[in-house]
Amino acid sequence: MGPVSLIKTERYDLPQVQEAVRRHLDLLHFRIDPAAKVVVKPNLIMRCRPERTATTNPVVAEAVIRTIQGLGVSDITIADSPGGLYTPQVLAANYEQTGMKAVAERCGVKLNLSCGSRVVRYEEGQLCRAFDLIDPVADADVVINLCKLKTHCMTTLSCGIKNLFGCIPGLLKPQLHYRFPDGQQFARMLVDLSLLVKPSLTLVDAVDAMEGDGPTGGSRRHIGLTAAAVEDGLYSLDLVMAHLIGLGPEQVPMLADAAGRGLCPSRWEEVALVGDSDALSCAVADFAMPASKTLDFTGNVPRPLAGLIRRLEPRLAPRPQVREKDCIGCGRCAESCPAKTISLRNRKAKIDLSNCIHCFCCHEMCPVKAIDIKTTRIFRFLSKSRSRGNS
Ligand code: SF4
Ligand code: SF4
Repeated sequence: MGPVSLIKTERYDLPQVQEAVRRHLDLLHFRIDPAAKVVVKPNLIMRCRPERTATTNPVVAEAVIRTIQGLGVSDITIADSPGGLYTPQVLAANYEQTGMKAVAERCGVKLNLSCGSRVVRYEEGQLCRAFDLIDPVADADVVINLCKLKTHCMTTLSCGIKNLFGCIPGLLKPQLHYRFPDGQQFARMLVDLSLLVKPSLTLVDAVDAMEGDGPTGGSRRHIGLTAAAVEDGLYSLDLVMAHLIGLGPEQVPMLADAAGRGLCPSRWEEVALVGDSDALSCAVADFAMPASKTLDFTGNVPRPLAGLIRRLEPRLAPRPQVREKDCIGCGRCAESCPAKTISLRNRKAKIDLSNCIHCFCCHEMCPVKAIDIKTTRIFRFLSKSRSRGNS
């Protein structure tokens, strides 16, 4: 378990971010073979401008690419499989809007536009022994994981581990949601995937993070930090970043799973930190969580009521709801729905909740934020009583 480096990084200013990246790599003793075939994997979850804070900021990508070019590396490809369809047209539009096309042009690196994938086996997987990976990741010597710090409606946290879900091509992602609708199992699958992809370096863009209904529907929250770790320091890195936004590993199933496998400590205080000694002053105590933040419904009620509450859970759990007046009928929610429970009628999305598995992929993929996460009054009451209990 390697150290985690934290560097205060106030703005998306290229010289400032490049200096932060240089310091991270020095502190972590990062080495790279100049002849390596490198994939830089940002979070490009959807086609949107960097200001929306759903995607890795292009200045961070440019700073990392320029730094590794300075180490002699020339074979560099930017690649991700965003949510929804995985086609050259979708990728090209995404790169344009997220600023990655301009980065690739300025730096003279490749943008992946081929949409092939292949199955890579991972015999040590605890849940999954094989994954379909997009070609550039499957073929890379070195993967650089460039994630954004965000909340996530399903996994609570989106950071280094979760970013690697974008190594799975397009609509195979909803299939994994359907195979593993349970949050704990989904988390185990993500940890298996991260162990297979094994990024050499993970760098977190937390200059501006996303709070609230992430990973796409939340709001910008300035933190002023970049953070990094090499190889299996990834898990400790996510643990520290979770702490920074007020989350413990028990609230983030991926971290609980990683700690259970011995991949990171169970307490962030046990992680070796390097870099700016005052970096943790960037921690945000009131970072807003997603409305869907999952609850153990039985944890807050007297034992005799626990069974009843559990039976009622499907009715109490947060659910997606389309705001018809804002729906533009693009169909992206239906495309991404693993349970195939969304249809379009009169150019408006309709959700049949009886089949919903509460993954919130639809909320994530709606380009106009027309899908809300509705909570019931009793859910809000139980959420409040649990946060009081935790505080
Ligand atoms: S309706 Fe939305 S939350 Fe429900 S299964 Fe489909 S994508 Fe997931
Ligand atoms: S709800 Fe959003 S994603 Fe679904 S069809 Fe309407 S606009 Fe498109």
